[in-house]
Amino acid sequence: MRKYTKKDILSVLTSESYEIIDYISQVREYRENNLITYSKNVFIPLTEICRNDCGYCNFKKTPDDKNAIILKSKEEILNELKIAEKYGCSEALFTFGEDADEEKVVLDRLNEFGYTDMIDYIVDVCRMTLDETDLLPHTNGGNFSYNAMKRLKEVNASMGLMLENSSPRLMELPAHEKSPGKDPKLRLETIANAGKLKIPYTTGILIGIGETKEEIVDSLFEIKHLHEKYGHIQEIIIQNFTKTPHIQMKDYPEPSFLDMVRTVTAASLLFSDTDVSIQVPPNLNYDTAQIFLLCGADDWGGVSPVSHDFVNPTSPWPTLNELEHLTSDAGFKLVERLCVYEKYINDEWLNESIKEKSINLLKHQ
Ligand code: SF4
Repeated sequence: MRKYTKKDILSVLTSESYEIIDYISQVREYRENNLITYSKNVFIPLTEICRNDCGYCNFKKTPDDKNAIILKSKEEILNELKIAEKYGCSEALFTFGEDADEEKVVLDRLNEFGYTDMIDYIVDVCRMTLDETDLLPHTNGGNFSYNAMKRLKEVNASMGLMLENSSPRLMELPAHEKSPGKDPKLRLETIANAGKLKIPYTTGILIGIGETKEEIVDSLFEIKHLHEKYGHIQEIIIQNFTKTPHIQMKDYPEPSFLDMVRTVTAASLLFSDTDVSIQVPPNLNYDTAQIFLLCGADDWGGVSPVSHDFVNPTSPWPTLNELEHLTSDAGFKLVERLCVYEKYINDEWLNESIKEKSINLLKHQ
């Protein structure tokens, strides 16, 4: 199998005219099957408060916003999990703003619930999910310290954090200038710590936020180096910036369709000598989604029959029937997966109870 260099990957990202078709043909040589996976999930935002303020964010709300989720109670969460259970969901996706307890309103709510620390609360929420429902927790809440992740590992089947981009230059641009947590050094350290702790992990890049093609190449190589060292990256999300009227970057151009084609193809080629999946969110690219399967994407990520995509509220997920049609019409087979990939369901990566629960869920898929 060919080893792609940075120069090769840059050529894919800058390809013009028919060159991209040649690259897509290379992807085809590496495809080992025609399976496209997805995870049936429920998306539960524990809090919409976040210490960062990314220029493209559609998720964060401020404490004075009357509609903001300050902190969901365990009762509310359990109620949502039970509904998801009835729909056959296997993944509880807990996504929330980073270090939200730096805000007094969140801390007050935590105290009201009998907690002094956000990590204690998240751990308890995940434990409740494991003990009282059929779902497996997947936590994605920004950077965590090594010790916090060590605790979260014991109650999560997998975790995730978008790298976005590895360039520190974006910290000076509207994308990340008000987001200390998007410092790529910090993010790469979090992803590395997940590897050291043997946490099956999801990461990804966001394109169209002011980065150069070279910076996309560097970001993909950074992720690849971490995977080569720790073997923990399950999938890489290739996400396109989409503008909505209320974000700070509302006047920024979105990446073109061809830019997405080039980036998905580049990532598929770079990771063709690994078992890392390439994921494209189907709700952000519904009309064009099928072509990304031909570019090497083999995972749709989490798709929920019961909840919104709170990160992209204007882009509803396709129904499972639509997803099935989208996939089969392109010549592929849709297959449900857990939030932890099968290759990680063993003693090396999971504690005994999460391993057993995952094996049982697999049997019923
Ligand atoms: S994108 Fe994530 S980290 Fe950035 S402000 Fe929104 S919730 Fe916070």
